[in-house]
Amino acid sequence: MFMVFLADDAVQSYTIDAVNQFLAHRQNLNGCTPKMTHFTSLNFTNYTLVTDWYVAGNEIVDHIMMHVGNPLQDEIDSNLIALNALASILLKSIIGFCTPFLNYSINTFELLATVGFTYYSSAATTIPVMDPGTDMFWPYTFNNRMAKYCLDIADSCKGQPVLPGTHLMDLWLNVVNRATKINDTAMLDYMKAMFTLIGLYTHPIHLSTTYPGVNPSNSTINMINRFLDWAQVQQDVWIVSNKQLLTWVQNSVPTSQLDSVAALNCSTPQFNTLQMICNGIPTNENSLLSHCVFSDFPFYTCYGCPETEPMVGNPNPAQQVPHGQQMCFRLPTNCSTLFWDPIDRKCLCIASDCAFGDNSQSISVNSANLTGSRMGGSTDASTRPANVYVPFNGQGFALPIGV
Ligand SMILES: [Zn+2]
Repeated sequence: MFMVFLADDAVQSYTIDAVNQFLAHRQNLNGCTPKMTHFTSLNFTNYTLVTDWYVAGNEIVDHIMMHVGNPLQDEIDSNLIALNALASILLKSIIGFCTPFLNYSINTFELLATVGFTYYSSAATTIPVMDPGTDMFWPYTFNNRMAKYCLDIADSCKGQPVLPGTHLMDLWLNVVNRATKINDTAMLDYMKAMFTLIGLYTHPIHLSTTYPGVNPSNSTINMINRFLDWAQVQQDVWIVSNKQLLTWVQNSVPTSQLDSVAALNCSTPQFNTLQMICNGIPTNENSLLSHCVFSDFPFYTCYGCPETEPMVGNPNPAQQVPHGQQMCFRLPTNCSTLFWDPIDRKCLCIASDCAFGDNSQSISVNSANLTGSRMGGSTDASTRPANVYVPFNGQGFALPIGV
C-alpha cells in the first residue's frame, strides 16, 4: 500500500529539517529515500530551498502565495509565477493544488480548471471514516461531480462541478480519535488501527527542532517516527508523494512490479561537484546564491533578486542586477531545473541518457521481505543530534539559522 507524506506552508531550513527527521533515514522497497509533497505558500519562504527540495525529488504544489482561503485567480497564478521565476520550478511539474485552511468554493475549482492542474487536495470528509455513512471516497475524479462535503459548500455535489480528468487527492480524513487532550501513546495505537486509510500530513514548523525559540514535543516526534518504523515493516508499504501515487493510479501495476514505475525510482544527477552552476544542488550553487534582503521576509535565490518583494499581482518583479553582473535568465519550458544555466542561458542536457544515474534497486516477489527500512540513528528525538538540512548526503552548506 501507499502512504503519502504531506506538509504545507513556507519552506525554510527548519521546515525541511522537520520533514527530514521523519524521512531522511528511511528507504522504500527499492532502496530510495521516500519523497513527499509540499503544499508551498510563499510568504516567509526561502526560494532556494524550494529549488533544492524539488531537485531532490520532492513534489512542490501550489498552496497560494500569501496563504488565504477561497483564493482568487491572481493568488493562484502568482504563486505559480513566483515559484517558476525565483525557484526555477517547471510549471508543468506543478500538477496539484491545495487551498489554505481547506477553504474553497465551487468557484475555486472552476478557477483551478482554467489553470490546468491535474489534482486538487482541498476537501475533508465530514463524517469520520470509521462511522457508518462516511463520505470518505478517495481518490476519484470530477468527471461527474463532487461527492463529499456536500452540505457545507454551496452548489457542491448535485451534479457539480464537472471537470473531466481532474483528480481529487484528498487525505483530509476526519479521523480524530475523540481524545480531549494530546496523548501520543493513544494516537500511535489509533494510527496503527487506521493504517489502511492513512496518510501523514504535517505542519512542519510545529515539529522542527531547529526553529529558534520553539520547543516541539519530543514525545510527538518520537511517536511519529515509531509509527513510521512500524509502518515500514508491514508488507508492501511505500511512503510516497501525491504525485507518485497519482502516477500509479493512472497506470497501476501489481506491487511486485513497482520497481518498473519510474516515478518511484531515485537517481543521482551526473554533476561534477566542483562545477559552479545554479541547479538546486548546494555543492554546485552555493557561491552563486543571491541574498534578497527584504524587511518582511528575506530569502536566497540562485535566479536573481527581484527589485521589490514578490507580491500577488506582481509575483515576478524586475530583477535587481548587481553592478558588474548580468541578469539571470529564466528557466525555459524545454529544460529541467537541474540542467538550466541561468547565467550562460543554456541547457546543459537535453538528452535523457546524459542526465541521471539510476540508484534504484529492483524488487521481487521472491525477496525475503517486501518491506522498507530505516538506517541507523536513534528514533528517540532527545538522544538524536539536531537534524540540520544537508541535501545529497551531507555535502551541502547551511544557511544562517532562521533563514
Ligand atoms: Zn497551509
